[in-house]
Amino acid sequence: MRLVLLGAPGSGKGTQATRLREHLQVPHISTGDLLRAAVAAGTELGMKAKVVMASGNLVSDDIVLGMLEERLLKPDTANGFILDGYPRNLAQANALEKLLEKIRQPVDVAVQLDVNTDLLVERIAGRAKAEGRADDTPEAVRHRLNVYNESTAPVVDFYRNHGSLVHVDGVGGLDDVFNRIIAAISHTHDVG
Ligand code: AMP
Repeated sequence: MRLVLLGAPGSGKGTQATRLREHLQVPHISTGDLLRAAVAAGTELGMKAKVVMASGNLVSDDIVLGMLEERLLKPDTANGFILDGYPRNLAQANALEKLLEKIRQPVDVAVQLDVNTDLLVERIAGRAKAEGRADDTPEAVRHRLNVYNESTAPVVDFYRNHGSLVHVDGVGGLDDVFNRIIAAISHTHDVG
């Protein structure tokens, strides 16, 4: 199962991806996590990404694509993957399509988690307290939501046009949302 998880910051992608990983037995690949690991390791790439991430802007397409390609080429993706946080704009959506064509692993389904803006802001504020992420300051959050609306929202249309989009109501308990996702992707193969 090759699944792309879409949704605004705070929509619950990371949480649901963790559950989906267990259920589908495929790796969860989060470009945000890969970038945070590079920042923590103090690599050259991480140093470049750090300031951009703290401001709530997108890291350059080239950097993220290179990192993602390296990750997707690892053998544990043979049975699929859950992609979280990528693609973030149309250029990335096109780049991903090309890359997956090259490795003959096209996307099976894109799941859009729908959550209204008030709840997004509330959830991110909760996460800021719990995790203390550098980009969870009120100013950076507002900016990330703007970046999402301007750059990332069109990616939903991209997958709708490709016929692989399903919408899931992301409001409710974790189990409820998880069960909705499973029901929504049950028309694709290998759901278990
Ligand atoms: P996330 O954990 O997915 O919310 O990502 C946190 C931050 O990492 C984002 O605000 C961006 O600065 C950066 N980032 C994550 N994924 C991408 C991506 N696909 N393209 C560009 N920047 C990204």
